[in-house]
Amino acid sequence: MELEDIKSFSNNSDSQLFFDYDLSKSNWFNIGGKTKIFFKPQTLQDLIAFLKLYNKRGKIFLLGAGSNTLFSGNVFEGVTIKLGKNFNRISTLDKNKLVAGSSVLDKSLSEFSMENSISGFEFLSCIPGSVGGGIRMNSGCYNREFKDILLSVQAVDFLGNILQIPYEEIKFSYRSTDLPKDLIYLSATFQGQNGDKENIQNEMSRLKQIKNDSQPSKIKTGGSTFKNPIGQTNKKVWQLIKEAVPKDISFGDATISKDHANFFVNKKNAKFDDMMSLIAYVKKSVKKKFNIDLELEIIVVD
Ligand SMILES: Cc1cc2nc3c(=O)[nH]c(=O)nc-3n(C[C@H](O)[C@H](O)[C@H](O)COP(=O)(O)OP(=O)(O)OC[C@H]3O[C@@H](n4cnc5c(N)ncnc54)[C@H](O)[C@@H]3O)c2cc1C
Repeated sequence: MELEDIKSFSNNSDSQLFFDYDLSKSNWFNIGGKTKIFFKPQTLQDLIAFLKLYNKRGKIFLLGAGSNTLFSGNVFEGVTIKLGKNFNRISTLDKNKLVAGSSVLDKSLSEFSMENSISGFEFLSCIPGSVGGGIRMNSGCYNREFKDILLSVQAVDFLGNILQIPYEEIKFSYRSTDLPKDLIYLSATFQGQNGDKENIQNEMSRLKQIKNDSQPSKIKTGGSTFKNPIGQTNKKVWQLIKEAVPKDISFGDATISKDHANFFVNKKNAKFDDMMSLIAYVKKSVKKKFNIDLELEIIVVD
């Protein structure tokens, strides 16, 4: 990949460009090799200028908070983009509408809406990702998903063209949407309802308590590894794994959380291959015992 012109990509902004950048510290698993280019645009103008210059000459991956991503140990032959501070703003519009930049953390959005007495965003306090990752994954918990609060998505394609996508044009499904994969979400507009600050705060605490009681915290994980096989069984995927796989199974430092069988954990220095061996083993064991093909929820980037 020709990089000379990109190396000299410079302007008067504070956008950051790195080469052969280590990705292992930028995701929750703490796993991964290097990316040829790492770009952290601070403004939309810089992002568009970069995309036009890059002109899809290699791969492009958008990194949010890295809480759902497993990077391989290979060099990523392209650019990993992480949106910077201009994409981290939240504003209120009229009638309980909010606009949030894609790098805003879900937790911050739920806190902002609570401070402004807007309800509907309480569930976001339990998801450790960003707005961009949440749109891509249609993330959710406790019977609420991004689809329930989204009004529209503002995006840019890989060639730098800006798009505005209304809710009605997006088909949402469980942990997915039909939005094209070659889009960078810039921000989104959300609809909440009139709420009472104290009630919202109580609801957030209640949900966080349920989460803390049922899922591990302070571990290197990507959250739910597989999707629940909805329609194929009444069991949740963690139950299938619990019944099909010995609980102390590990490959290198890759293992299964004692608190939640669908959370796979990097105990210390697990490599990508260790995690993939664990994933393959669990998939095979569940297939053998229940004849169900599990589908990955985490995004594997190679
Ligand atoms: C402890 C733990 C608990 C979790 N609990 C839940 C839960 O309750 N519910 C749930 O749904 N998930 C849960 N997750 C998974 C994860 O937090 C969500 O999927 C989250 O929305 C991912 O956001 P992210 O910013 O970390 O995305 P990343 O991991 O950075 O990326 C995920 C995907 O989104 C894409 N993406 C990110 N930003 C953009 C953007 N701006 N434009 C285009 N694409 C983008 C990436 O390219 C990638 O394909 C949990 C994870 C952990 C570690």
